[in-house]
Amino acid sequence: MLLTDQLLLNFQRCHRQAFLEMYGERSVRGQVNDFLLKLGQDKQRFQDSLTFDQTIAQPEYPYHDWEAGSMATLDLMRQGVPVIRKGVLMSFRTDQYSFVSTPDLLIRRSGVSVWGDWLYVPVDVKLSKRPKLEYQILSAFGADVLAVVQQVPTEVAWLYLKDKGWYAIDLPKVMPQMEALRDELLQMLLYQQEPEVFIARNRCSMCVWFDHCYAIAQSQNHLSLLPGVTPTRYPVLRAQNLATAEILAETDPIHLHAKTGLGHEISSKLVSQAQAFVYQQPVLLTSARAFNDFDALPTAAVELYFDIEAEPGLDLVYLHGVFVVDRQQNHQQFYPFLAKQPDEEMQAWQDLVALFQRYPDAPIFHFCAYEVQTVTRLARLYGAPDGFIQSMLPRFFDLHEWVTRTAVLPIESYTLKLIARWLGFEWRNTAANGAQAICWYSEWLETGNETLLNDIVLYNEDDCRATYHVKEWLTEFLGQQTALDLQPLASGF
Ligand code: SF4
Repeated sequence: MLLTDQLLLNFQRCHRQAFLEMYGERSVRGQVNDFLLKLGQDKQRFQDSLTFDQTIAQPEYPYHDWEAGSMATLDLMRQGVPVIRKGVLMSFRTDQYSFVSTPDLLIRRSGVSVWGDWLYVPVDVKLSKRPKLEYQILSAFGADVLAVVQQVPTEVAWLYLKDKGWYAIDLPKVMPQMEALRDELLQMLLYQQEPEVFIARNRCSMCVWFDHCYAIAQSQNHLSLLPGVTPTRYPVLRAQNLATAEILAETDPIHLHAKTGLGHEISSKLVSQAQAFVYQQPVLLTSARAFNDFDALPTAAVELYFDIEAEPGLDLVYLHGVFVVDRQQNHQQFYPFLAKQPDEEMQAWQDLVALFQRYPDAPIFHFCAYEVQTVTRLARLYGAPDGFIQSMLPRFFDLHEWVTRTAVLPIESYTLKLIARWLGFEWRNTAANGAQAICWYSEWLETGNETLLNDIVLYNEDDCRATYHVKEWLTEFLGQQTALDLQPLASGF
């Protein structure tokens, strides 16, 4: 069995993913999505852009033929090639398994090794802004394999980060963590211990095994489909035989707290979430009642629904979409402020500012905090009229925060897409999502295909309209709760 660095990376993200990569049925493995492919291409471009004063060589070998790759890399190391790109390192541990590492770069240094008076240090190149522990662990794994290959302890290993440059791994600190994880992975693979499905939306939505795992989770009514059941809370619930949404829905939150030690608010929210799920009905959060939240969501003559599209790889905000709802005139209009090229970002920003100023009293509804953060950042970057930000901040209403603070819904995740779909809203292009829009914009820049821009604008408009739908529903829902709250009072008079 070959234990590769990629498997170790998968294992760190999800034990089950590593298992499926080794033993899963290939026919149920999905395609790598466009966004991940784009990230791979971006990384490749960045690696290719790195230049060195010394000679660079790359081993040639058939795709995924690690043994051939390792032989070709050994050949280059033996020759003392100064920089080896995409080398393959292999160490045979027992007759049951071998380790395979594929460091992005191997750089020759002076020192003593099996090759003579030189040795190699491993470097992994990452687009990441910070030296994530999962990358440090991979580098430690590579350092360990390299030590066997060149028969000298590896004392340094590096990450090269796009924005921050060189980062030296603290090998004495990270190596024991890597060994513990690697041994746990080995154990799982050697004994074919298939980990249980656990759907965690952030992690699973991009995974090639998602459809397969999701179907299993659904068939089992798995508790991980319930928002709020995190990987750490799940075993706590299981230990108390609270293994289904039905049981949880019937549990008193005070007992749940007493049995599990979970906080009062978490216990209460979990029970409400289970009830919403089982009875397929929204539930008002008791905390919302206490804070009387539902008095403060405004309805105005003119309202703006705002959504941004950005390309993180280019640090670019390329589209501000605003859906203007004029209730008095019974008129709705969508305005896309689009930077067709990266150097038009400032113009798009100025057009947005002008629209916001045209409706100085209109509340601005958006979903999640990104829009407010971005407006604040762009105002600093490109400037804005005096007092602009101070006057804008009270106008923003984050509907994600509003929904999650006041209600629980019979959905699996509180994304705009799932909430709006539960309300019956459908995006006109079903293939569209935020990650896909990033890919489309990148492809537009490369090909000049205007259809891609149109797809992005359509998607952005639908995001704004979906936000409008959510707001309309929430206003009505909270209004109904207020009316219910007032009933006993009214009958008492
Ligand atoms: S879909 Fe989720 S649970 Fe399944 S392998 Fe992927 S990350 Fe793991």
